[in-house]
Amino acid sequence: MQYDVIIVGSGVSGLYTSINLDSNLSVLVLSKSSLENNNSNLAQGGIAAALEEDEEQDHIKDTLIAGNYKNNIDNLKLMIKEAKKDIEKLISIGVEFDKDKQGNLLKTLEGGHSRKRIIHHKDATGKEVLSKLIQVATEAENIDIIENAFVYDACKINDSFIVSAIYEDNKVLKFRCRYLVLATGGLGKIYKYTTNSSIATGDGIAIAYLLGAKISNLNLIQFHPTALCEENEERFLISEAVRGEGAHLVDQNGYRFMELYDDRKELAPRDIVSLSILKEMKRKNYKCVYLDISHKDKDFIKERFPNIYKKCLDIGIDITNEKIPVTPVQHYLMGGIYVNKNGQTTINRLYAVGECSYTGVHGNNRLASNSLLECLVFSRLAARHISLRKRKCLNNIFKEDIFKEDKYCIGINKINFNYKKQIQDIMQRAYFIQLDVNSAIHGIGVIDNILNDLKELNYVKDIHFYEIRNMCIVSKLILQESIRNVK
Ligand SMILES: Cc1cc2nc3c(=O)[nH]c(=O)nc-3n(C[C@H](O)[C@H](O)[C@H](O)COP(=O)(O)OP(=O)(O)OC[C@H]3O[C@@H](n4cnc5c(N)ncnc54)[C@H](O)[C@@H]3O)c2cc1C
Repeated sequence: MQYDVIIVGSGVSGLYTSINLDSNLSVLVLSKSSLENNNSNLAQGGIAAALEEDEEQDHIKDTLIAGNYKNNIDNLKLMIKEAKKDIEKLISIGVEFDKDKQGNLLKTLEGGHSRKRIIHHKDATGKEVLSKLIQVATEAENIDIIENAFVYDACKINDSFIVSAIYEDNKVLKFRCRYLVLATGGLGKIYKYTTNSSIATGDGIAIAYLLGAKISNLNLIQFHPTALCEENEERFLISEAVRGEGAHLVDQNGYRFMELYDDRKELAPRDIVSLSILKEMKRKNYKCVYLDISHKDKDFIKERFPNIYKKCLDIGIDITNEKIPVTPVQHYLMGGIYVNKNGQTTINRLYAVGECSYTGVHGNNRLASNSLLECLVFSRLAARHISLRKRKCLNNIFKEDIFKEDKYCIGINKINFNYKKQIQDIMQRAYFIQLDVNSAIHGIGVIDNILNDLKELNYVKDIHFYEIRNMCIVSKLILQESIRNVK
């Protein structure tokens, strides 16, 4: 099968790209899992947006402070300026943001924001946005969507890309397209403890790397200060908006320790809060610290944070009168596939959008709720760029359509699942909030051994095989870049 545009990924960035492309273009969206299984669906807090012109400068300033002034200033200004268009577009397709009694959008605060500018849908903003995007994309006649299609390879032949995917675990599908957009999200699963969904194994970044695209600042990983402290490896996030609405970070005895570390206390940027919690845990030999919002009105808590309230109640914690045990965990990737403001990578016709891309807007540390905004603005700009290029291109018909289902992947031995655990242990030890150079050097050696096994041991080339390959590639790049940065 052939398409004008193939988009790998059906999170907010993939689907928003698809619905912003010219409707004359044939579009295929491939998703390695269900349409709902991705980081977008988990986003709780909201979308940061300066909706009035006089608010833009403050939003830029706060983003620069959080990012340690390492942000790409042109792309940042562009993102803040364009925000209003995308919020209006979301509202026009039916996304419901919370409003006050007069019908004005309600705005909240999160760490690093100097004023309330985050619009939200209760504590499930991502789910609300994604569900409306799924509706629009599935109804569009020019967009095909295939779930459970795991893309493991993309190669470029002349002016087109051949995209290979394992479909429902047992078939290989091949497609051809003129423009390929990677919207594959983050890489949290290379860590033992993460807020990310199971899809986040850095696939798109590894595919781009293997194609020869430039990858930038992969060492810029964000750790979220407050995930629910449970035994699960995929950890439930206690949104920053809980602190934004007045929750305190306390130790076992109720002491608000953040005042020791930063004047902004609980609302300092995430890197500072995460590091402070880590220090506090080490200093006092704690397994976790606590988030306490019980001093707020009970009905307000239940209405504002219904999912967090329910999740905690399910494990026996009533947040209206009890403290929530929390720890920092891996959360977000600031680095990624290098792109310009139109989502173009360093390879012609290859685009990247969303968390897998590196636009530079976040600098060293993302300001809370700027990520969905980045997904929206730069996905729309990439879609516009592809649409304009395609209109100018006359020679857009492929000579033949040769791609169809293929045989299942070769190999004899079943892959050893322990490799995933090994990678997660390495990353957790070598680079969790702070880099441990010796563990990182050792970790690179172990990863090289795994990569060698993948080459030599005649494994069945199934989804697990490719996920492990991808996790190795991105983990190694992260560790190498982190070590380079301390030298
Ligand atoms: C718990 C949590 C809370 C968050 N809260 C907020 C918030 O309040 N505000 C905010 O701005 N940001 C928030 N974020 C960050 C934000 O949600 C993400 O950065 C953003 O949604 C990423 O969107 P995306 O489309 O790039 O990736 P995703 O939504 O993760 O989508 C990636 C897609 O790629 C597909 N895919 C991946 N690999 C392959 C492959 N090999 N083949 C085929 N398909 C593939 C997946 O199936 C999936 O459809 C949060 C993140 C988490 C984890």
